[in-house]
Amino acid sequence: MLLRIPYTTPLPSLPAIPTTATTLPTAITAVSNFLLNTRSTLILSGAGISVASGLPDYRGARGTYTLNKEYRPIFYGDFVHKDGMRRRYWARSFLGWKGVEKVRPNKTHTAVGRLWEGGWIGGAITQNVDSLHTASHPSMPITNLHGLLSTILCLTCKTHSPRSPFQQELHRLNPTWSTFLEEMRSTPDFPIKRGPDGDIEVPGVKYESFRYPPCQKCLKNSAFRGEIRVDKDGAMERIEGDGNIPGVVKPTLVFFGENLRDEVKREAEAKVNAADSVLVIGSSLATYSAWRLVKLAKDQGKKIGIINLGGVRGEDAFWDDGEGKVAARYRLGDGTDGVRVEFDAGDVLEGALEILERVDGQRTTRRVPVSSSGLDRQDIELREIEMAATR
Ligand SMILES: [Zn+2]
Repeated sequence: MLLRIPYTTPLPSLPAIPTTATTLPTAITAVSNFLLNTRSTLILSGAGISVASGLPDYRGARGTYTLNKEYRPIFYGDFVHKDGMRRRYWARSFLGWKGVEKVRPNKTHTAVGRLWEGGWIGGAITQNVDSLHTASHPSMPITNLHGLLSTILCLTCKTHSPRSPFQQELHRLNPTWSTFLEEMRSTPDFPIKRGPDGDIEVPGVKYESFRYPPCQKCLKNSAFRGEIRVDKDGAMERIEGDGNIPGVVKPTLVFFGENLRDEVKREAEAKVNAADSVLVIGSSLATYSAWRLVKLAKDQGKKIGIINLGGVRGEDAFWDDGEGKVAARYRLGDGTDGVRVEFDAGDVLEGALEILERVDGQRTTRRVPVSSSGLDRQDIELREIEMAATR
């Protein structure tokens, strides 16, 4: 399944479900009813929940696509085949990394962790590549649907490694850029535009001069002798025209136009299968890979909840009564059968937790353990690297 960019404009809102849930207190009541009446809820989070940590979302009021109509993220095919595009990506990512590295979880991440600890949710999937769920709650297993920014992957030998040492290498290979980065960071109003994936746009900068190293394991592999060429400092030699060469590293996040890893897809589907309801937080589900998980839950007759500021892609499919209208049991219910509210997810979940803890103080085991058979050794190693990176 390819990751595509389906929408770049804000989506229209649907009326609240139930129709009474138009104020924060009534929204909180509806969401607590939803959570109280499920055996195992699966959380699916998106960029909206990291806005309060200082990362932009894509389609919110101050989202990347909303403020910058020209913004187009890098495509996988361009990264793999074009030397110039790789230099451009790593240069921008080099400049943006420090900003991503320093972001901290916010109250929504904390609330999700508390829901997990309290047994109120059975699992979580995120579309975010910022590692903030893990930073907030390391013991909560999370499926990173679109990968992570904090680790890198060799496209040839598939070795994963942490991003920070790679960033140090980029500093060493690009002293001019390193100085530029320092200047940028010490100038408060420096004209930059930051994307949610750690990408940064700097007006008037030439990316072709940026240097990056190849995978060290592939570089030492005699099978690739002569194919991976490096300069005296260990940076990849420039390639004329298009070139698909061994030893290229990319962040483990899924680029647009790239396939989701099969293991990740299977793990996400297993979580949907094990849950009896899905609660979407801070996502417009504009990415098909996320929308289809909710649709899968709906097709399995499971309950759907959505907490998002703004509209959600094709959400009528979740509430349809068969005649293109929102079914009465959702509209007129109390949130038990389904909920859709337009408030900050952190505010709603904090309020709901107060009610949940009051109503059912003891921990009830609602977690449904998801089989780890879909995880290969590399996934486990990646998790360990990820945990270390967020400490
Ligand atoms: Zn390699």
